[in-house]
Amino acid sequence: MAAATHLYAIAIGSNRSHARHGRPPQIVEAAIARLDQEFGLFDASPIVLSAAHGPAGRDFANAAALVESDLNPMEMLARLKAIEREFGRRSGRRWGPRVLDLDIALWSGGKVRSRRLTIPHVELARRSFVLQPLLAIAPDWRIGSTAVRHLAARLARRAPRG
Ligand code: ATP
Ligand code: CA
Ligand code: CA
Repeated sequence: MAAATHLYAIAIGSNRSHARHGRPPQIVEAAIARLDQEFGLFDASPIVLSAAHGPAGRDFANAAALVESDLNPMEMLARLKAIEREFGRRSGRRWGPRVLDLDIALWSGGKVRSRRLTIPHVELARRSFVLQPLLAIAPDWRIGSTAVRHLAARLARRAPRG
């Protein structure tokens, strides 16, 4: 029997330059190419830039990609972490500057909740830097009864510049 094929929405982010891959927008672009090589892309969003807040902050680049895979969510997480390491990410503080962050925003199998993995990503509905790119490629994807486009609209109403 053929393995089940799943659709994954991957949230891509960078806020740290890398000697080989360059600045965050180039890193995100290279990560999209890497995901395409690994999985074959269904679609990828434009890259969204956000200015960091405060003098010590760093600029962010974000995007989202849709990939199809037979991997289950834990296997997908392991693959994404391996790609982060390929891009020179070292384990460190959560939310600290990092060359590349690849999160599973959504998958076609519904909800996952374990110690190491929660899908939909817990912050999805609160992060415009995830919802905005996702809106470009999967506006009709439903989380329960709510489509991505509705989550994005709701967040925009609450935090117009967020
Ligand atoms: P945030 O989760 O707030 O975006 P982060 O991406 O900076 O934070 P990381 O240090 O990259 O956090 O990852 C911490 C852990 O989060 C991972 O080791 C993984 O086990 C867990 N995790 C839980 N849910 C997810 C998910 N949907 N996608 C990726 N990692 C997840
Ligand atoms: Ca993240
Ligand atoms: Ca992460």
